[in-house]
Amino acid sequence: MVIQLTPSPVVETADLKALRQKVRDFVAAELASGGFTPTINSWLGGWEPEFSRKLAAQGWLGMTIPKEYGGHGASFLERVVVTQELLAAGAPVSAHWVADRQIGPSLVKFGTEEQKQKLLPGIATGELFFGIGMSEPDAGSDLASVRTRGTKVDGGWKVTGSKVWTSGAHASDYFFVLARTAPLDAAHRHEGLSQFIVDLHAPGVEVRPIISLNGGHHFNEVFLEDVFVPDDMVLGTIGDGWHQVTSELSYERSGSERFLSTLPMLEEIRQAMSRGDIPVDPELGRYFARIMALHQTSLAVAGALSRGEEVGTPASIVKVLGTTTEGDIAELAMMVPGAASAAASLDTLRRYSDQALLERAGFTLRGGTNEVLRGVIARGLGLR
Ligand SMILES: Cc1cc2nc3c(=O)[nH]c(=O)nc-3n(C[C@H](O)[C@H](O)[C@H](O)COP(=O)(O)OP(=O)(O)OC[C@H]3O[C@@H](n4cnc5c(N)ncnc54)[C@H](O)[C@@H]3O)c2cc1C
Repeated sequence: MVIQLTPSPVVETADLKALRQKVRDFVAAELASGGFTPTINSWLGGWEPEFSRKLAAQGWLGMTIPKEYGGHGASFLERVVVTQELLAAGAPVSAHWVADRQIGPSLVKFGTEEQKQKLLPGIATGELFFGIGMSEPDAGSDLASVRTRGTKVDGGWKVTGSKVWTSGAHASDYFFVLARTAPLDAAHRHEGLSQFIVDLHAPGVEVRPIISLNGGHHFNEVFLEDVFVPDDMVLGTIGDGWHQVTSELSYERSGSERFLSTLPMLEEIRQAMSRGDIPVDPELGRYFARIMALHQTSLAVAGALSRGEEVGTPASIVKVLGTTTEGDIAELAMMVPGAASAAASLDTLRRYSDQALLERAGFTLRGGTNEVLRGVIARGLGLR
C-alpha cells in the first residue's frame, strides 16, 4: 500500500480526552471573560500575541519540542487535540501558528544544536514568531523556480531576492527563506536549493504590506538586498533545501486548520436551525460527516508524524479534501438572510458568513494549490 496510515480509526485515549476537555474549559473561560472574539479563519487572521502567551503558559505552544529546548516533549496527537479545540472555537492563534506548526518541528529535525537552543525556547513561550519565505512573484506552484539567491561570502551568505504573500512578516522576528545557492540545472531543478533563517530586522530586509480584499494587513512582500546571513543561520544542509521544504510542507498541509477554518460558522448555522431562525436543511449533516472523516484522517497523519513516517501524500489528501470542505461551508453563507430581514440572533452568523466569503478564495491556494496537490497525490499513488 502506497499510503501508510493506521487503517482503523484513531481511538482517543483517556489522556487525550482529558486534554481536550482541559482546552475546552480554558476556551469557555476565555470566552466568558471576553478574552477573545471568535472569528472564521482564526489561524491566519487572529494575530494576538497576548493570547498566544496565555496558551504558552498552559503548555500548549511548542508541545512537540523536546523538554531540553523549552518544549513539552508531547506527541503530534496531543498537539492536534489542542489545536482542534482552539480552531473549532475560532480562537486567535495566528501569531504563533507558523512557528508552532512547522518552524519548531523543522528546527528539531534539521537545526543545529546552537539554533535549537537559541530559537526553540522562544517558540514555546510565544516570544518568537516566524514567517515562511517560499513563494516569489514567479515561483508559487513551481517552487523550484525560486530566484532568490544565496552567495557564499566570508563567514556566511549574502541573500538577495524577493518573496511574496509572506503571512505575518511585518509582525514576526524571523522567516525561513528558500533560495538558490547553485546555478539552476534544468535536468535537476530540485538540486542547488537551500534554506536560511533570516532575521526580519536585519539590514537589507524591507517588508512591504499587501492589503487584502477585506482591508486587513496579513500578507507582505519581503525584499532582500544583500542580506548577510551568518553560517550558523543556515538551516540544515546547503543544497538540501528541496528535501527540507517538502518535509516542512507536510506539517503545513496535514493539520486540522485545513478543514476547521469555517467550523464556527457551521456550528452557528446548526444553532440557528435548531432555534428556527433559518429553515432546517438536511444537507447540514453531510458537512458534519465530512468534517468527522477529515478529523480521523488528520489524526491518522498526526500519528504517522509522531512515528517519524513520510506523510507527503496523505498530508496532501487532507489538504485537498479539507480546503474543499471548508470552502463549501463558506458557500452556505448564501442561506443566511441579509441584515434588513434577519433576527438579531443571526448577527454572529452574518459576521461569520461575511468573513468566510471574503476569505474563501485563499482556502485552496495557501499551502500549495489543490490543482497542483492533485498531481502530488497522483505521483504518490504511483499513477504518473
Ligand atoms: C492565505 C494565503 C497565505 C499564504 N501565505 C504564504 C506564506 O506565508 N509564505 C509563502 O511563501 N507563501 C504563502 N502563500 C502563497 C501560496 O503558497 C501560493 O499562492 C501558492 O503556492 C500558489 O502559488 P501562486 O500564487 O504563485 O500561483 P500560481 O503558481 O501562479 O498558480 C496560479 C493558478 O495556476 C494553477 N497551476 C499552476 N501550476 C499548475 C499545474 N502544474 N497544473 C495545474 N494547475 C496549475 C494553480 O493551481 C493556480 O490556480 C499564501 C497564500 C495564501 C492564499
